[in-house]
Amino acid sequence: MTVRTMLKIPVLSIVLTLLLAATPIFAAPPSGKNDTLPSGKRVLIISIDGMRPDVLLRAKAPNIRELTTHGSFTFWAESTDLAITLPTHVSMLTGVSPAKHRITWNDDRHAGSGVLKVPTIFDLTKKAGYSTAMVVGKHKLCIMARPGSVECTMASGTTGEDALAISALASELLRRQQPQVMFVHFPDPDTAGHASGWGSPEQVASADRVDQGIGMLMSTLRELGLKDKTLIIITADHGGSGRSHGARVPFSHFIPWIAVGPGVRENYDLTNEPKLAVHVEDVFATALNFLGVPIPAVTDGKAILSIYGSSFSTFEHPKPTPLSPPLSGGKHLIRGGLEGFAAKE
Ligand SMILES: [Zn+2]
Repeated sequence: MTVRTMLKIPVLSIVLTLLLAATPIFAAPPSGKNDTLPSGKRVLIISIDGMRPDVLLRAKAPNIRELTTHGSFTFWAESTDLAITLPTHVSMLTGVSPAKHRITWNDDRHAGSGVLKVPTIFDLTKKAGYSTAMVVGKHKLCIMARPGSVECTMASGTTGEDALAISALASELLRRQQPQVMFVHFPDPDTAGHASGWGSPEQVASADRVDQGIGMLMSTLRELGLKDKTLIIITADHGGSGRSHGARVPFSHFIPWIAVGPGVRENYDLTNEPKLAVHVEDVFATALNFLGVPIPAVTDGKAILSIYGSSFSTFEHPKPTPLSPPLSGGKHLIRGGLEGFAAKE
């Protein structure tokens, strides 16, 4: 299937309402500006929904393997206590735990309602002068697209085998807009896990589809001359077992976390540092640190400076300020707001 053919797949561009008319977020990028303001650096965050590390490692996944070889990685990174899609993606892109961001449900019930009270990576980087974009396979993730900070673009396919449509859409967006901060979400392995089981041949095949999609994105970055300026982080929201996933199940808890880009150590397994625990919230802090955007004090995540070796060792992360009252943990949240959703997606 060619890129041209794939682009014929119906695509729904969801522009959350209340966009300031005078803020042309998706207007053509000013030529020559994107690489000079504010730092010339770029971030691409890729989330592979439901991608348990060992299932990824069973796939051929040549593109992800190549990125891993050229980057720093761990296959023992950790999801949130909830280990379900929406709360964990919000933690990935806000840097705080579900107890702080309080997005504890896993459906579209508050999409676009402004219920998210903590800043996202899009809010902060947009304010700092970066251009932003998100391409997702599940509409509920658009809850993070605050008007004026990012436009949420979604592939409309409902088959769950969307990786190539999503990567084609994201590639097209890269060519047209060259967003400096981009989030791309692939839903396929989660859909395959719920349908056929975590670790099933179908799910391994879905990981290879995502790998193909990631290969397409890498080609596009190279074609645009942007790859060497981009910090790429590939991770997941949770794993799973049987046909589901959820809180406090080891099979659901561990996720891959791969960083590659300028200054990042090559072929470095972060588990060489036994005291370093990488969490999904660290995506947010690591990306902001790379872009030179201050990390909010409320952030639970930390910039994973080990990916740079010792050169960044003097960086000090701001002390987190706990919110009050904290919730009592994942179990409470599940009982309070997630019943019936954990097993669905
Ligand atoms: Zn998920």
